Amino acid sequence: MQKNILIIGAGIAGCSLAYFLANSGWDVTILEGEDDIAQGGSGNPVAAIYPKFMLNDEAYNDFMLKSFTFTTAWLRQLGLYETDYRFDGAIEILEATYAQKLESYLSTKITVKEKFLSLINETILKQYSIESGSSGILFNQGGWVNPLALCSHLIKHSNIKTITYQKIKSIEQSVDQWILKTEDQRIFNSSHVAICNAGSLNQFDLTQHLHLDLFRGQVNWINSKSLQMPRIVVCDEGYLIPMNKDKHFFGATYAMNDFDKNVRTRDTKKNIASIMRIHHDFYNHCLSQQSISGRVSWRASSKDRKPFVGRIFDNQLLKKIRVRELARADHFPWLKNLYIASGFGSRGFTFAPYCSYVLTNLINDNLSREDKKTLNYTNPERYRLKKMSLKKVASQIFKV
Ligand SMILES: Cc1cc2nc3c(=O)[nH]c(=O)nc-3n(C[C@H](O)[C@H](O)[C@H](O)COP(=O)(O)OP(=O)(O)OC[C@H]3O[C@@H](n4cnc5c(N)ncnc54)[C@H](O)[C@@H]3O)c2cc1C
Repeated sequence: MQKNILIIGAGIAGCSLAYFLANSGWDVTILEGEDDIAQGGSGNPVAAIYPKFMLNDEAYNDFMLKSFTFTTAWLRQLGLYETDYRFDGAIEILEATYAQKLESYLSTKITVKEKFLSLINETILKQYSIESGSSGILFNQGGWVNPLALCSHLIKHSNIKTITYQKIKSIEQSVDQWILKTEDQRIFNSSHVAICNAGSLNQFDLTQHLHLDLFRGQVNWINSKSLQMPRIVVCDEGYLIPMNKDKHFFGATYAMNDFDKNVRTRDTKKNIASIMRIHHDFYNHCLSQQSISGRVSWRASSKDRKPFVGRIFDNQLLKKIRVRELARADHFPWLKNLYIASGFGSRGFTFAPYCSYVLTNLINDNLSREDKKTLNYTNPERYRLKKMSLKKVASQIFKV
């Protein structure tokens, strides 16, 4: 039987899902509302990839570690041009005591810790041309990728068709087909659909309960030819990322419910200030520039900062079912053949490829134990279940 799927949205979520599905035999059509792929959050000139851990959130750290390990290994073997990605390391500047605590916590989780991370010292700071006196952690496998180059590469497969200017307005279900209508009344049909439209997730009747907050972010970049710059990603209050010869990128601002599309001087100033402790000469160099390039886009984040990846409930069936019955995950009224992958916040280039891989395994009914754990963690229905006092079962949709 021919396997067809429509994917809404051509950012990193939609493009990576298309890639995994096409490679497992699906015919994929990506429908993108804009005039090109990677025009939303995934359209920044560069994305940093490094793990961010927290001392008090074991489940988040597990998800982060799995995503980071998977995505970096996968990216290395994709065949991207060497000018479009580097995994030379990433430094996270942290307060000294916190860095030590984090390092000893991570020693218990990571088998070959020395290969994965080290506390930074003056030798490392000097080696990477970073201001002296800082503390933090060097993640050896961290790095960066060119988002547009990655997304373009992912959808090159002959089983993937991408159609732009197709803003989907509604999703309806007929007997065994999903019917998608665009704003200008074009219709697409398919047995399977995946929604990867980031902050617009709740635009459809089926998904209106899946709320994501939007956080405006501005990045800036500048030529740094005359300076000795870090060759790796460095994150402090802001980040500094090398890319393509002499250009360095820095950012990013973070503001909720701010919908101004323009690059703002005051945000450029904020970004410059955020890299002061990383590289003083570059900071001064930025301050002396007449104009600095920038770009604005939005991150889409759920309240608990976990993405929404998996299936959702059939609203009609849900109305008919008693809460008592919902206490058992095998009674959940899942919608058939409709999938979600959105809400990747500030970490789309670490999380989305891994989540797309897991979602592909769900669609192909080929889940490993680790995949099930991940889907328990990212269950899009967790808020609805929590409201019904079924928080525990929300994270146990699969037995592991
Ligand atoms: C300033 C800034 C800096 C960032 N830096 C990093 C970083 O360094 N590293 C990192 O990992 N992440 C970073 N992020 C986050 C990252 O960009 C996002 O997590 C990621 O791009 C989300 O990918 P996505 O595919 O879910 O969404 P998007 O890339 O936003 O893609 C969604 C697509 O869906 C389309 N769409 C929406 N509605 C419809 C519809 N109805 N019909 C058809 N198409 C539709 C949109 O046009 C869009 O193309 C940053 C974000 C910002 C804002």
